Amino acid sequence: MKLQTLLIGVCLSSLNAMAAISNKEATMTAFIDENQTQAVQLLEEIVNINSGTMNFAGVKQVADTLIPQFEALGFDVSFEDGSAFDRAGHLVAIKAGGTGPRILLIGHLDTVFEPESTFQHFEKIDDHTARGPGIADMKGGNIIILQTLKALQAAGELKDMNVHVVMTGDEELSGRPLSLSKKALIDSAKWADIALGFENGDGNPKTANISRRGSVGWTLTVKGVPSHSSRVFSDKVGAGAIYEASRVLNTFYNELRSEDLLTFNPGKIIGGTTVTHDQTSNSGTAFGKSNVVAETAIVTGDIRAISETQLKRVKQKMQSIVSDSLPQTHSTITFAEGYPALAPTDGNKALLNLYSKASEDLGLGAVVAVNPLNAGAADVSFTSAHVDMAIDGLGMSGADAHTVNEVGNLRSLASQAKRAALLLYRLKTQE
Ligand SMILES: [Zn+2]
Repeated sequence: MKLQTLLIGVCLSSLNAMAAISNKEATMTAFIDENQTQAVQLLEEIVNINSGTMNFAGVKQVADTLIPQFEALGFDVSFEDGSAFDRAGHLVAIKAGGTGPRILLIGHLDTVFEPESTFQHFEKIDDHTARGPGIADMKGGNIIILQTLKALQAAGELKDMNVHVVMTGDEELSGRPLSLSKKALIDSAKWADIALGFENGDGNPKTANISRRGSVGWTLTVKGVPSHSSRVFSDKVGAGAIYEASRVLNTFYNELRSEDLLTFNPGKIIGGTTVTHDQTSNSGTAFGKSNVVAETAIVTGDIRAISETQLKRVKQKMQSIVSDSLPQTHSTITFAEGYPALAPTDGNKALLNLYSKASEDLGLGAVVAVNPLNAGAADVSFTSAHVDMAIDGLGMSGADAHTVNEVGNLRSLASQAKRAALLLYRLKTQE
């Protein structure tokens, strides 16, 4: 009896799912299923091209493999050279002049696996799973973008749409300055109303990102008066650099820890009589004797904040804590160029609701927002100041990204493309 009820329930829900999608939408989902083999083949081809961020030729080769695919869909495609910011560059594909909202689709060509890595090849583990460098983060996402657009074309809906696709060549290790390396992305974001990121998110297709915390690095530099240790705390010598550095860190900990969705972490400290600090290699040396008051201390760390407003407030608090120095010491803090936050706006929430509805209508279940504490900064964050709505994490499900065990769920190539195709179609037709 129980089983029978369950079966009837399953039949009804799949009937409901069928009824919930239109004929056009059914054409798109059928196209995606029929072309799954080609999608997996193209994924295998690009996973087998090493495109570690600093392997510029490899990043370009991934772009060269994908460019004809976009051209076949009627896009104007260019590869924007990245020599000004010491990276390979970005693939930019443009289809403009149509009707409906302006939509930006975001991918990236690079991976964290450079040519020296032992992890270089696509390998099928079973019918539905494959391992490979960057398979989920995010070559699978790039393929999902293509499948989505091909499905829209198959339904006759792509030709009058407004779409930009930007696949950056340096998501994993951004070129500097960011003002140059993120320019192509930001230019398209300024044009767009809506941004969709196809990162793997947290690897779970039941979730997507409506917010990502921004991150910014900081460096605390402290100077004290060197002297014999027996003179520490005297009027002339004061506290020394190491006491002052620990005061600053302890006050950060006590006064900023209560901020919602904020983290800040000192990752390195160097202190003593003489220190060296190499920012490029994140390393340094220290010399100091127990009987000498420390002259210098350097601390480096990061801040992860949920919005630009929070980041601004936290920076001001940190500055004011830093300026309150112990006797005969002087501290300064500097903040590096950072990644902006993708704040959880009402627009982003509305876009997620549309996406979730599309997923439910496909019989794939609801999609909820990822806890931003579990989501790092990504390219989509650079669009946040410029678009009305943005979500990310629409890419391939998988696990263990950034490790040699990275796997992708091949079935999710199709299911994620179907969800995105319905979302794009509905954004176009429902406005
Ligand atoms: Zn990624």
